[in-house]
Amino acid sequence: MKFRPKNLSPTRAAACALLVLSLSFLFAQSGAPASADAPAKAVHGIAVANMDRSVQPGDDFFQYANGQWIKRTVIPPDRSRVGVFTALSDLTNKRTAAIIEEAARQKAPAGSDSRQITDRQIAGRQIAGRQIADLYNAYMDEAGIEAKGLAPLKPHLDAIAAIKDKHELAHALGETLRADVDALNNTNFHTANLFGLWVAPGFNDSEHYAAYLLQGGIALPDREYYLSDAASMRDARTKYVAHVAAMLKLAGFTDTDARARRIFDLEHAIAEKHISLAENDDIQKANNTWKQADFAAKAPGLEWAEYFRGAGLGQQAEFTVWQPTAFTGESALVASVPLETWKDWLAFHLLEDYAEVLPKALADENFAFFGKTLFGQQQQRPRWQRGVFMVDRWLGDAVGKIYAERYFPPEAKAKAQEMVANITAAFRKRVEALPWMAPATKAEALAKLSALYVGIGYPEHWHDYSAYEVKADDMFGNLWRGSLFEYHREVGRLGAQVDRKEWSMSPQTVNAVNLPLQNGLNFPAAILQPPFFDPKAPDAVNYGAIGTVIGHEISHTFDSEGSAFDAKGRVRNWWTPADLEHFNAATAKLAAQYDTYKPFPDLSINGKQTLAENIADVAGIAASYDGYRASLGGKPGPQQQGFTSDQQFFIAFAQDYGSKSRDAALRAQVMGDSHSPGQYRAATVRNIDAWYDAFKVKPGEKLYLAPADRVRIW
Ligand SMILES: [Zn+2]
Repeated sequence: MKFRPKNLSPTRAAACALLVLSLSFLFAQSGAPASADAPAKAVHGIAVANMDRSVQPGDDFFQYANGQWIKRTVIPPDRSRVGVFTALSDLTNKRTAAIIEEAARQKAPAGSDSRQITDRQIAGRQIAGRQIADLYNAYMDEAGIEAKGLAPLKPHLDAIAAIKDKHELAHALGETLRADVDALNNTNFHTANLFGLWVAPGFNDSEHYAAYLLQGGIALPDREYYLSDAASMRDARTKYVAHVAAMLKLAGFTDTDARARRIFDLEHAIAEKHISLAENDDIQKANNTWKQADFAAKAPGLEWAEYFRGAGLGQQAEFTVWQPTAFTGESALVASVPLETWKDWLAFHLLEDYAEVLPKALADENFAFFGKTLFGQQQQRPRWQRGVFMVDRWLGDAVGKIYAERYFPPEAKAKAQEMVANITAAFRKRVEALPWMAPATKAEALAKLSALYVGIGYPEHWHDYSAYEVKADDMFGNLWRGSLFEYHREVGRLGAQVDRKEWSMSPQTVNAVNLPLQNGLNFPAAILQPPFFDPKAPDAVNYGAIGTVIGHEISHTFDSEGSAFDAKGRVRNWWTPADLEHFNAATAKLAAQYDTYKPFPDLSINGKQTLAENIADVAGIAASYDGYRASLGGKPGPQQQGFTSDQQFFIAFAQDYGSKSRDAALRAQVMGDSHSPGQYRAATVRNIDAWYDAFKVKPGEKLYLAPADRVRIW
């Protein structure tokens, strides 16, 4: 589970959704890459200039902490929201761009900072440097891509055209399987291929990597786009059919309107078999082990043995099937829908997947629908930014290694580790002191905390890309080989011993993540920078800003979803029924609190939908505050800029959520995200006693809660 919401993808191009999601909103401003240095920061501490001190903190803490920033900030025309994260992401991407452009200029990082490392590492670095350069340059070579026309696509389209029966179709469908979904870490449930593979520690054997199979097959982002009766969805469907026809026409197909209609009807039928996003969260329902031999009986239609052969999984004995009903339904469609429709569907998905590296006419048509129509993005981001994204996607660790060396000094790592230790210790004390939790449950919770792996900054091991063949004049091939290289790496891990310290975010990602099957957390280097984390700022500010994020992620280890996994990441319910009852009662109070928030007269926050994240916010502040107090060893923290240390702590927390959204984006978040909007996350402080003392908050002020009404969970 991530710390912050994902942003919807503006284009569904070749790369997997994961990075499109995290990078989609970063590259909004056009222009050349600017200087990679952080703007000089005069004060290391809270941003007083962002505050509106005419507002009573007890009335509206979000405005108090961020009001001036909100007043002077204009949302750029090509963004739907802007905030603290945006600035940080922009900075990180300028730095990443600089690393890539440097490699692209030099072809290899000649010597530079590599004196102290071994020859073997230097060789590895040179390969990575050349790969970065070639991949970036290949992407930037628009003229070269244009000159090749549809030639790179031809052998693949010919192969689809040559499929002569359902047996060969099964093989071809198997060949499209990729490791492009992630159910629990980065939570990406979407693939346009028939199914998606996720390789992760097993639900029932967490010591070894298992194969999870997830539903897929639709190109639009979610089943609702096919099934919803809303006017906007009906409109999107009409435009989608026209888009499918346009893509086929550009690729030289005839009779494109009829083909597009049939492709849409097939995807519509697939969408009807899908289960919803909300249902995907239920671990118990997802825990279905199917032996390879079971598929034919449980999901007849597709020739499974041939499908798995095509996927290179002929030897894989068993799978965890996340949505069994979707597998049964989709497999039946392979049998019932005519072969020619499936072949058109395969060809169209191939075009869509590779549109970004095909001639401009196809790339533009792809953007016109997925960027403009579906997500309202008015113009493409500049090509160099998309080139950076491409390199980040396929060579993320190669770039990330340089990023971490350059921008994440050992002192920062040591300081962050010290904070994590203090916050974890505070969490431990809180669990030990819980009056309602049974000793047996407590013992399990504490064992989980002891075994928790907390990754800070960057992974312990880096991915080795030396087997990934990158050519400076073959962008289509680079993408083709990149997705296969990743797929083979994932398949190669099946059955192997789990590396509990494996990361699931690159160092240059501005986010944090809880990995339930590994009982681990990742805090990438890119979120460990100002304003979240500044080794030169007072401790109060760091504990308020990043400490509460650390506490938030630790809390997920024990919440409604985390409690489904034990210390070793196994699926096992370790809560007693009485404990669970108490937890549910306490959290229901928090859900009710958030239900009262109304961002629009006709739309309230859904307390239930946002509950796990809100619990994590309350717990995160509480644990980080305790950790901070403990770090002071009983002494009061220093004042700065006219604020007490406790005031700085809470202001820093609320400034994490300084943001501004367009109404449409805010509505979309309220309806479809598990995270509350920033202004309500900032208001979480009303449940913390120390906040009342720090700001002398009195009864009658809008955020005031009587002590009995403050929600305390951990
Ligand atoms: Zn979270």
